[in-house]
Amino acid sequence: MMSGAEEIKVDKDTANPSKAWERIRIQQQHTRCPHPDPIIPVTPDKIRFVCISDTHGKIERSGLCMPPGDVLLHAGDFTMRGQLTEIEKFNSYLGFLPYKVKVLIAGNHDLTLDEELSDSTLRSFGLQHSEIESYLKSRGLKSVKEMLTNAVYLLDSSVSICGIKLYGSPWSPKHFKRMAFQWRRGQELKKCWDKIPEDTDILVSHTPPCGHGDLTGGNNNVGCVELLNTVQKRVKPKYHVFGHIHESYGVTSDGFTTFINASTCTRRYKPTNSPIMFDFDIPEGHSKEELLHMEKNS
Ligand code: 5GP
Ligand code: MN
Ligand code: MN
Repeated sequence: MMSGAEEIKVDKDTANPSKAWERIRIQQQHTRCPHPDPIIPVTPDKIRFVCISDTHGKIERSGLCMPPGDVLLHAGDFTMRGQLTEIEKFNSYLGFLPYKVKVLIAGNHDLTLDEELSDSTLRSFGLQHSEIESYLKSRGLKSVKEMLTNAVYLLDSSVSICGIKLYGSPWSPKHFKRMAFQWRRGQELKKCWDKIPEDTDILVSHTPPCGHGDLTGGNNNVGCVELLNTVQKRVKPKYHVFGHIHESYGVTSDGFTTFINASTCTRRYKPTNSPIMFDFDIPEGHSKEELLHMEKNS
């Protein structure tokens, strides 16, 4: 996997991303970018991606304007606590959206999607393993992710859209209370990032990397240092889409990768931030026609 690419080491300040970023930022470019105008139509040689995140069960009735585009990307936290009724509601909402493909990852709030979560953690959020099991059984489903019939659901996995390679990962640093898809900063999380293939064009993660779209209201950087290093030194995607830190919504760049914090909800869980779009060149040998043949479900 590491052929020719730099091996990522755990940063000495991994547990203190603000301190790490103070040191890292002086060695690199960091610019705030304007949001592309969704009024300008996409050209036939490009795929338009529309990004949202952290909708927390609020977008469905929000009336939020969804701009036209080819592919929807959602970077996790589509529910408040992964209740199966929330997942049903969100899946129906996706079904009504006009995008040809909808790519989705989970976030720390989407608890029932995390099959490794313990009974006690589920119970601490008012969820019961037995109830989930009987719900699935009554519908002939084997897992909660099978409920997401209107999405391409990525869990440490890739999808190719018209030759453009996307990779999705739900993991975020453990913070406060144990939630879904969380590991400790450092070696534990790095194991997830080590799985990202080097030919990824668009990376979708729930957590931001350190230094981009990761400032909390208290002005602390809380993004993952190893994710930043993986993005900048090994994978080098053109776009990195994420959410999680709601108050850091917006677009930044390091001169190569464009970083999009697409959090739809504000810090107070109000779904008022507009979707952020970008256009990606269709690689040679591929065409937009392929979108029509893509299976809706992965
Ligand atoms: P969520 O609970 O939806 O995952 O995150 C909501 C908010 O919790 C974020 O906008 C941010 O203010 C805060 N938050 C989430 N993760 C962290 C973290 O690792 N550190 C800190 N300080 N705040 C976080
Ligand atoms: Mn969130
Ligand atoms: Mn989150």
